[in-house]
This record gives sequence, C-alpha cells and structure tokens, in this order.
Amino acid sequence: MTKTASQPLESEAKPFTRLRFRCAATGKLVDYEVPGDAKTLKDLWSRSLWRSCRHCGRVHRFAFRSAYIDGILGASRWVAEQA
Ligand SMILES: [Zn+2]
Repeated sequence: MTKTASQPLESEAKPFTRLRFRCAATGKLVDYEVPGDAKTLKDLWSRSLWRSCRHCGRVHRFAFRSAYIDGILGASRWVAEQA
C-alpha cells in the first residue's frame, strides 16, 4: 500500500473556514475565519454575522452564506489582492 505523504487530513489540519466580505466604506476586502466543522457551518449558514473592520474601524454586518462562498471562490485570488 502506498502512502501519500503530501496529503494531510484536511478536516483536522484546517479546522477553520475563511469568510470574505467587502468593506462598505472603503471597498476593501476583509477576511474572517470561523470554525470549519460541519456543525458550525450548518448553524451559521442562514445567519448574519458582525465583524469589526480593520480598514474603517466600524462593525459590518454580512451574510454568512455569501461570505462563505466568496471565501471559497476568492481563495486563489486572495494572496494577489492582499499583495
Ligand atoms: Zn469597513
């Protein structure tokens, strides 16, 4: 049996899920991590979250669902936009 060393257990190696939303005041992107287990995701899915913004200092309200999707879709572009 061949062992694949470069394949970590994702559910244990990455317990957090990245959310992403856009600051309404500055238009900049804000990342936000939440526990990535299935129970938490299911619990938060239809809710809205509040998050203090590091760009404008205010607290923004955003839908978990859209932020979750943006976090996944934007993951590959995230590094480039932060640079
Ligand atoms: Zn902001």
